[in-house]
Amino acid sequence: MGAQIIDGKKIAEGIKEEIKEEVARLKEKGIFPSLHSVMIGENPASRVYVKNQRKSAEEVGIEYTLHELPENMNQQEVVEFIEGLNRDERVNGIIIQVPVPQHLNVRDIQLKISPEKDVEGVNPYNMGLLVYGRGKLVPCTAKAVMILLESTGIPLKGKEVTVVGHSEIVGKPLTLMLLESLYEAPTPTVCHIATRDLAFHTRRADILIVAVGKAGLIKGDMIKEGAVVIDIGINRVPVLDEEGKKKFKIVGDVVFEEAVEKVAFITPVPGGVGPVTTAILLRNTVEACKLQKGGE
Ligand code: NAD
Repeated sequence: MGAQIIDGKKIAEGIKEEIKEEVARLKEKGIFPSLHSVMIGENPASRVYVKNQRKSAEEVGIEYTLHELPENMNQQEVVEFIEGLNRDERVNGIIIQVPVPQHLNVRDIQLKISPEKDVEGVNPYNMGLLVYGRGKLVPCTAKAVMILLESTGIPLKGKEVTVVGHSEIVGKPLTLMLLESLYEAPTPTVCHIATRDLAFHTRRADILIVAVGKAGLIKGDMIKEGAVVIDIGINRVPVLDEEGKKKFKIVGDVVFEEAVEKVAFITPVPGGVGPVTTAILLRNTVEACKLQKGGE
């Protein structure tokens, strides 16, 4: 049985096409959705993210502005900057690039983003709405996973789902989303660093979702035959090229070559969860803009 590789790029393109049409419609009404990104200090990984975010935003017609704040800004000064963006009517969505310098508390900064401009869905108000199945601006990666699962056409009802990783931004909101339906929900199990026997839980999963950040964590023998595997992890691992020179390769948390031999569906890394996450960020920006305009 050959596994189907879930094409995140293609799914993301479809979502972006829809956003593009929506943005064009808004522009005809004189509404210009804008996404504002805040980068504090210098970070090479954030530079790459920002570049990709700008490209994707501009592709769909969303205005993208990068605010570069100096490394030595203190917590209060950053918060005041965010509050300024909250007050500015031209700003529809705000995103903080992580990591931030060590002397800053990123969670406390994110909490200051107005819920209506919180396009990453990290504000407690937006997280809280998820409990009631009424999320509007939802955490992008968790939503991306739900869309990737939907793309397989496999009903979630009654399935055993194991989520590995219980972070505030991925594992926890994803579990709430999985439980959204009153009668057709799957049965999620959430594993984390303190889980005693990880393989026990992963082996019984019809759907296995991994968000840890450890290359090679999930080996082939930890996966059920015919499962659906969504790999969220992003790890930069050193490899040697043909000439024996060291370079870096991006891999997920699942040993792809082993998993692909026995699963029904699997997301690749890169090209799986990542592009859909970015597309949801753009969709949230348009949603945020509409919320601010009173549903237009
Ligand atoms: P995090 O560091 O906040 O959380 C890691 C989670 O993994 C925790 O719940 C921890 O308990 C658990 N964990 C750690 N070691 C474990 C082990 N040995 N066994 C079981 N669980 C273990 O991470 P995060 O922000 O949720 O990100 C997780 C990964 O997903 C990272 O690689 C990150 O880069 C990636 N990520 C990708 C996207 C995307 O768009 N593709 C978005 C967000 C995060």
